[in-house]
Amino acid sequence: MKALLVFATLTVAVLAKETFEGWTSGRGPVRVPVLSLSAVKDHLENNQMDYSVMIEDLQVVLDEEEEEMDSAARAAEPRNTDSFDYSRYHSIEEIYRFQDMLVSENPSLVSKTVIGQSYERRPINVLKFSTGGTKRPAIWIDTGIHSREWVTQASGCWFAKNIVSRFGQDKVLTDILNKMDIFLLIVTNPDGFAYTHSRNRMWRKTRKPNPGSNCVGVDPNRNWDAGFGGPGASSSPCSETYRGPRAHSESEVKAIVDFVKSHGDIKAFVSIHAYSQMLLYPYGYTRTPTKDQAELHNLAKKAITDLASLYGTRYRYGSIINTIYQASGGTIDWTYNQGIKYSYTFELRDTGRYGFILPANQILPTAKETWLAMMTIMDHTSKNLY
Ligand SMILES: [Zn+2]
Repeated sequence: MKALLVFATLTVAVLAKETFEGWTSGRGPVRVPVLSLSAVKDHLENNQMDYSVMIEDLQVVLDEEEEEMDSAARAAEPRNTDSFDYSRYHSIEEIYRFQDMLVSENPSLVSKTVIGQSYERRPINVLKFSTGGTKRPAIWIDTGIHSREWVTQASGCWFAKNIVSRFGQDKVLTDILNKMDIFLLIVTNPDGFAYTHSRNRMWRKTRKPNPGSNCVGVDPNRNWDAGFGGPGASSSPCSETYRGPRAHSESEVKAIVDFVKSHGDIKAFVSIHAYSQMLLYPYGYTRTPTKDQAELHNLAKKAITDLASLYGTRYRYGSIINTIYQASGGTIDWTYNQGIKYSYTFELRDTGRYGFILPANQILPTAKETWLAMMTIMDHTSKNLY
């Protein structure tokens, strides 16, 4: 085996201790605090294990990201969505203000619905893009259910602006919006996202305390009622993949469950994560293929081919269990079982060089290439209503 090491000189001082679960469990590189550096190297070499260094000093990368955030915060607050800087990462307050500006600038196309509240009582704001009609079939997109996957929320902001900019210009998008509504939830895990800005950049879960444990939060992508409690999720509150005490225990998940059920006519559901560069369809909890496997597979192939046409970014694709790992209680397994055929999950850039700390100069290329794949999925959905 080949170990991947990331040296983290000052990480202990800056990030909370639980951070170290993040990259060491499951997949990806191992983070080595500077104090353990020589011991780890000795161990690997004594055991003839091959390793390579991915990032010499993680703290430098984190500091650069923080410096960019600080300079963005010093810049004048955008007065409209044209002057919003889509090439930077933004705080939750900035994203919420962005959403409100977009609605007030485009009242005939965009509205905002609060579908629930996070544990810490932040609103769960869904943007609705609609050209009218009543009870139209719909497409759902969410970003940021895992809070540290910052390129996803940033891409969500760009998607929102792109929809209003391209409507009426782009024939495919215009045709889609003349038949269907698009719902977009950018900050799906608001408490976790606020925490990634205030305390721990590597926070993944929700922020609800777990009774009887010092560890906080549930993995909101293991909390859905689809194979809940099975392999590929943890029953330990301290795990990064803790499934929670019961299905839909997290208000952030329950809000979407209630919305999907009450809407009743969502035809495509796309839940966006990072990183790994994959486009995945159900199932994650079982090896039994879905009855739509062939169509989902062919559409995924077309979508990633279109994605790659912009910058050559290569994606893998397939079912969750066959492509990434077994995971139970995942979002799109639940939505598929609710009858939403076109249920997909993206894992955006990159493949691990920067991982969750993707430099801000990759936001726009990531959002733009992903949008091509989104359009492929939405176009296919609108032409194959069921
Ligand atoms: Zn994720």
